Amino acid sequence: MLNLLDFTRPQLLAWVQEELHEPRFRADQIWRWLWQKLARDFSEMTNIKKSCREELANRATILWPEIIDIQTSHDATTKFLLRLADGATIETVLLPSVDHEGRTRWSQCLSSQVGCPMACTFCATGQSGFERNLTVGEMLGQVLIGRNHLHDTRPDHPILRNLVFMGMGEPLLNLKTLLSALEILNDPQGLAFSPRRITVSTCGVEDGLKALGKSGLAYLAVSLHAPTQELRAQIMPNAARLELSRLLSILKSYPLKSREHITFEYLLLDGINDRPEQAKELARIVHSLSGKLNLIAYNATDSDYRTPSEERILAFEKALWKQNVTAILRASKGSDIDAACGQLRAKERRKHKTLPPDIA
Ligand code: SAH
Repeated sequence: MLNLLDFTRPQLLAWVQEELHEPRFRADQIWRWLWQKLARDFSEMTNIKKSCREELANRATILWPEIIDIQTSHDATTKFLLRLADGATIETVLLPSVDHEGRTRWSQCLSSQVGCPMACTFCATGQSGFERNLTVGEMLGQVLIGRNHLHDTRPDHPILRNLVFMGMGEPLLNLKTLLSALEILNDPQGLAFSPRRITVSTCGVEDGLKALGKSGLAYLAVSLHAPTQELRAQIMPNAARLELSRLLSILKSYPLKSREHITFEYLLLDGINDRPEQAKELARIVHSLSGKLNLIAYNATDSDYRTPSEERILAFEKALWKQNVTAILRASKGSDIDAACGQLRAKERRKHKTLPPDIA
């Protein structure tokens, strides 16, 4: 059955007018119930006449993903394993931070696909293969679950501040759905996430980069992870089909708003991409695009890679400083709960012995 969470606002309006033969304000009411008041059942929509609520229930559903596991880290990072209508599972993570007034604010890491076709060699999701794209309702259902969990229901004082598409999947390979989801997120009478509060992270997909830039609906983060084409091809072979030089030239013409920068993410893998000479090459790239740089220490999964020692990370940072690049070392949150991309799901799947051994 139709899931109303899959509709953009113009699509909902058309459906309400053409199928339900109801006026425009009815679509507005439904919209606010779905996205502001977090309604999960039409019976909650008390300002809508009963006959219309019954008609809605006959024709459509409001389908949120089902929570099958919640894990909370000692630092309050909270990870959800969610089951979708067809039984597929995805992860989403809530990450706390404290603002300058000492209040706790949250970011949410969202998945865009079930599995991922990019198959980056260090990534648990990539290694688990690709199942399918998420729908709009599944992508945004994660946000509804996050807001509901945080009791975040006052649009004027949101507790859930930022969304990052850094969960499972490559968002720019699910482009049309991503753009619809961003449009819905942006609606002031809905979830009201302005583009400044959303980051889309990608390992680089040409058409997707162009379309996202044109939409202006989110910040861009690029998973670089290697300063040369050769090394990139080794650790992220599918992503590197878009040559590094080509990726950088696309990024050079990426439309940015005032004071906006592209963020580069660089995952540090012991002995692979963490040498000071590599920091120098990385600095050149970051400078050439006036970008920002986030360093991420590898969160160990079932792979042959290792996390560099603190000394090696420090030496890498020092080499960057020498080139006038300040990098933020992203604190690894929730490492005690397998919070790295795809880890919790990989564990859950291993438990189910009925899965074929190649994916379990
Ligand atoms: N496909 C997108 C978004 C999902 S991954 C992308 O590539 O950007 C989000 C970030 O987590 C990426 O930078 C990815 O490379 C990184 N990542 C994946 N596995 C990781 C691990 N085990 N430890 C630390 N970061 C990891």
